[in-house]
Amino acid sequence: MGIRLGCIADDFTGATDLANNLVRAGMRVVQLIDVPPVGAEQPVDADAVVIALKSRTTPASEAVAASLRALEWLRSAGAEQIYFKYCSTFDSTQAGNIGPVTEALMDAIGTDFTVATPAFPDNGRTVFKGHLFVGDVLLSESGMRHHPLTPMTDSNLVSVLGAQTARPVGLIDHTVVAAGAEAIRERVDRLRKEGVGTAIVDAVSNDDLLRLGAAVKGLPLVTAGSGLAIGLPANWGFESSPSAAQLPPHGGQRAIVSGSVSTATNGQVQEFLRGGRPAFSVDPLRIAAGEDVVGQALSYAATHLPEGPVLVYSTEAPEAVKDVQGRLGAAEAGELVERTLARVAQGLVELGVRQLVVAGGETSGAVVQALGLTGLRIGPQIDPGVPWCAAALPDGDPLHITLKSGNFGGPDFFTAAFARLDSARLGLACLDSARLDGETA
Ligand code: ADP
Repeated sequence: MGIRLGCIADDFTGATDLANNLVRAGMRVVQLIDVPPVGAEQPVDADAVVIALKSRTTPASEAVAASLRALEWLRSAGAEQIYFKYCSTFDSTQAGNIGPVTEALMDAIGTDFTVATPAFPDNGRTVFKGHLFVGDVLLSESGMRHHPLTPMTDSNLVSVLGAQTARPVGLIDHTVVAAGAEAIRERVDRLRKEGVGTAIVDAVSNDDLLRLGAAVKGLPLVTAGSGLAIGLPANWGFESSPSAAQLPPHGGQRAIVSGSVSTATNGQVQEFLRGGRPAFSVDPLRIAAGEDVVGQALSYAATHLPEGPVLVYSTEAPEAVKDVQGRLGAAEAGELVERTLARVAQGLVELGVRQLVVAGGETSGAVVQALGLTGLRIGPQIDPGVPWCAAALPDGDPLHITLKSGNFGGPDFFTAAFARLDSARLGLACLDSARLDGETA
């Protein structure tokens, strides 16, 4: 049987966030890193596939082309419904890309109507009367108004999206959403007759998203942040179950590669060091001076891996990072560190590491690329928004990997992550034996 839900996400960590929500609502999910090349189509054993693009801030024509390639792949894999996923702060440039991609998908699918809601109440993103709130403030009063690539200065999503689309944009407001799925469907019919192409939908709670989820059953295309994902799996009869997050058995050595410079990661590194655990610090100035930092890190790791997880990190407090950036240039320093950590990750895998934690969004991208990973099966959640994943190395060997964006995760994330992998395995073993007992009883 083919997949049920096909998702197109406009960035990498957003794709994982969406996949994580779908798994928690009971679907087995595979995340693909970019669209597989033509001719490399392989059947995917999953209920939903999320294709991660990098199309949020590219020129609109490129975002459209990439999204249409993803659509073609997902439909050939059997997807019955398409989910275009964007950021919960509706990040878009003046030229798009949310509007142009939405309309291109509508044209390609042959549908005249879709919904749009970035609401994700669990993360403080709510939509009321078409206006997006970030925590307690309007989007236009949040930090997003100063974003370097996608400054958001208008909170009225009907007008933001209206400026990006040829078709009229409407609103399904909270009174309708609160009245339930049937009322939403009636409003959809009316808006459709009025010629509305996309309706912004209010949602201030998970219940709103569940009602909307039920109402959009059968709609060929939905567009949303990751929040709506909680309301879709039930349309195919999926229920929350740990088996959706089941990964193949894990093994091998354990390591952590951290190139994140965020506050949360700094705390996680400090916590790991306080525990007296093996850690190797990567100094960007030594890399720049031509030292074989990769070789040093790997010989340290080779000695210490048998003791348990080894951390290789460039994570530093903001002042130290600024100092390095001042000496090497911010972009150059970033690239130098990313390249080094990606090679360290390759070397760790060669040393037998098969459980790998990576901290930092950019760092994760570099590591995934260096390891040649093309797809991730999404497993159990460690902390909100951060699941374990299983991937195949190019030689077919399994690798368990988790990609933590900077500010995610509790203070003990680096040790809790491995404990989570063990407990998920044990939990599933118990579940399986309970099921077997039930069958024999
Ligand atoms: P985060 O999610 O915390 O922003 P990223 O990996 O996305 O983490 O980005 C961090 C950037 O900072 C990367 O480009 C990384 O290579 C760079 N970096 C990491 N450590 C240092 C350091 N000590 N000095 C300068 N730049 C660094």
